[in-house]
Amino acid sequence: MNRRLAAALGVAAIVLTACGTSGGGTTTERLAVSAVVPKPANAGDLTAPPSVTRQECGDKLASWRPEGALPRPGQMPAGSTMEKIAQHGKLVVGVDQNTYNVGFRDPFSGEIQGFDIDMAKSIAQAIFGNPNAIQLRAVTSDQRIPALENGDVDIVVRTMSITCDRLEKVNFSAVYYEAKQQVLVKKNSGIGGIDQLGGKRVCATNGSTSLSNIAQARSKPIGVKVSDWTDCLVMLQQGQVEAVSTDDVILAGMAAQDRYTEVVGTPLANEPYGMAIPKANVDFVRFVNGVIAQDIASGYWSASYKRWLDDLIPGPPPAAPVPRYKD
Ligand code: GLU
Repeated sequence: MNRRLAAALGVAAIVLTACGTSGGGTTTERLAVSAVVPKPANAGDLTAPPSVTRQECGDKLASWRPEGALPRPGQMPAGSTMEKIAQHGKLVVGVDQNTYNVGFRDPFSGEIQGFDIDMAKSIAQAIFGNPNAIQLRAVTSDQRIPALENGDVDIVVRTMSITCDRLEKVNFSAVYYEAKQQVLVKKNSGIGGIDQLGGKRVCATNGSTSLSNIAQARSKPIGVKVSDWTDCLVMLQQGQVEAVSTDDVILAGMAAQDRYTEVVGTPLANEPYGMAIPKANVDFVRFVNGVIAQDIASGYWSASYKRWLDDLIPGPPPAAPVPRYKD
């Protein structure tokens, strides 16, 4: 260090100490404390790659065909899963509360709302004749399957991709939304997609397909796992990760909440959303597929897309998915 620089630093140190003794620790101490930005609870680097996912299981997108016309609300067939739900008085649904305009808690009303919530309400409407006969339970990505297996919820409607792995544990409805995995970065970061994120930290929720897709990317990014999608946005804002990678619809919500971020690159993966239902309740899967078909035919699906997603997602509104069935 040259003498002049050493002298300048000495003066700076004295000034800092002098200002810092007035109370509550020295400035140097306070600076040191404020430099450590806390991470969201449960955030951590992926230490081992997620176990290899099953790729083959026939047509994973073909779900159980609806059985004739839907029963009228309030008249569920005797002995059916729908009758049990009707007797319970409410449809219990696992949802997200962190994904803007898909499943999120409106800070003004305190209500959870969005596209996924509209889809769930249409199932309650079909059973009870009342879209609000519903109990929403917020679940994280990795709580979705356990919540179904433990019987905590009747159905999960939470940005959940249909995969062969998951089909071993739960049933899925027909596709109700076609998402694609992309990348969110800070504007002016110069990063144009996943290929430029080799060795860089990229955030996704634990238990999501997004995290395994990051881990499997050829460029070899470092996957960072968190509980909720908003944790990823906070880590990006705090400079703790270089990017977030998940479904375009989730990222579009983050970009709308923070105008200093943008969605970039070509899609990494197709992420077709299904509503997940316990393995045993095939009758309920058929019923839900009837409701989805009705939502699409009546324009309810398009109206919900227009209300929640059209302003967030570039381009004209997509056509609703065409359901595929098995018998
Ligand atoms: N669609 C992906 C999944 O089901 C990511 C979305 C999420 O976990 O919320 O894993």
